[in-house]
Amino acid sequence: MFGRAPKKSDNTKYYEILGVPKSASQDDLKKAYRKAAIKNHPDKGGDPEKFKELAQAYEVLSDPEKREIYDQYGEDALKEGMGGGGAHVDPFDIFSSFFGPSFGGGGGSSRGRRQRRGEDVVHPLKVSLEDLYNGTSKKLSLSRNVICSKCKGKGSKSGASMRCPGCQGSGMKVTIRQLGPSMIQQMQQPCNECKGTGESINEKDRCPGCKGEKVVQEKKVLEVHVEKGMQHNQKITFPGEADEAPDTVTGDIVFVLQQKDHSKFKRKGEDLFYEHTLSLTEALCGFQFVLTHLDNRQLLIKSNPGEVVKPDQFKAINDEGMPIYQRPFMKGKLYIHFTVEFPDSLAPEQCKALEAVLPPRSSSKLTDMEIDECEETTMHDVNNIEEEMRRKQAHAAQEAYEEDDEMPGGAQRVQCAQQ
Ligand SMILES: [Zn+2]
Ligand SMILES: [Zn+2]
Repeated sequence: MFGRAPKKSDNTKYYEILGVPKSASQDDLKKAYRKAAIKNHPDKGGDPEKFKELAQAYEVLSDPEKREIYDQYGEDALKEGMGGGGAHVDPFDIFSSFFGPSFGGGGGSSRGRRQRRGEDVVHPLKVSLEDLYNGTSKKLSLSRNVICSKCKGKGSKSGASMRCPGCQGSGMKVTIRQLGPSMIQQMQQPCNECKGTGESINEKDRCPGCKGEKVVQEKKVLEVHVEKGMQHNQKITFPGEADEAPDTVTGDIVFVLQQKDHSKFKRKGEDLFYEHTLSLTEALCGFQFVLTHLDNRQLLIKSNPGEVVKPDQFKAINDEGMPIYQRPFMKGKLYIHFTVEFPDSLAPEQCKALEAVLPPRSSSKLTDMEIDECEETTMHDVNNIEEEMRRKQAHAAQEAYEEDDEMPGGAQRVQCAQQ
């Protein structure tokens, strides 16, 4: 480059902030600012510092005079007053001038055109527990509307449009219906000829690219990064990637993670739960087994010598739970829930053998006299106590309902009998 300014130091930062080359056009700057500002808006959880930086960079580069000063002398020159006070920028003001005051709370400025915000497109995204444990990326192909590049969203070759003759440009049509001899109903509906836009394009002037629709369909592949430790229902947002429409701020594409059930593991926050069934012998005399983790590592799980595991007991292994989102080197716990399978019955000689090694019975032996004084009972199996209780409650409710019903029903029966 040929000799420009003495101080060439700090005149790329603003371009870097917006992520555009130094040759960027005004349009490029606008696009870059718009995309980054939506993403970093504090109302959407963005970093206020970054948001401010973006506004400052855009404020300078969008002004040809300031941009020239910046390109030649850098940021300091603007601060020194050459560009007329580039340092005092209200980032919300700039944002509002783009998107209208309704979007971001801060500004309250009424200048600038108020733009509609397009709808966000929400897609559920099924992921396995393995995906959430290991992290993954998924490529998804979507089709979306984009502004027709041939006519830049005007819909016509000439860029001109006429008022829709159907609605005189209002976009709405009023229809009157006669409901009765002296009653009419007035209804307002979006105009069907212009789909509510109020514009009409001369047939001969229609853009051949979009046939006057202003938008065309485009296939786009999005790569969704599922990070380690993400949660069920967590959202992954692609700002400004939804359908484009003229005079509309493009909405976001939002993926909502949906975790599929796992056959072995259950997740609760940062912890994992694993079910394991032991035989009675294993529970009493020790066990070991291999647990295949979500990343296919083989964990050897074994009891301590002499240890007895009781039915329904939990044990935990530290740092073998789920990775913690954005801190994937930290992990929760892995809980193992033990079920002990008892034999259905034992032969008398097996009982004898067991009694020889197990602790003695707790109840003292009853005398024949004491037994004679008792009443005999029969016990039956209850396989599922919760189910049995539920059935009982439902039955009671049904009975109460029928009792309530009996009054009018009974009265009716009496009436019938009298007739
Ligand atoms: Zn119309
Ligand atoms: Zn077009």
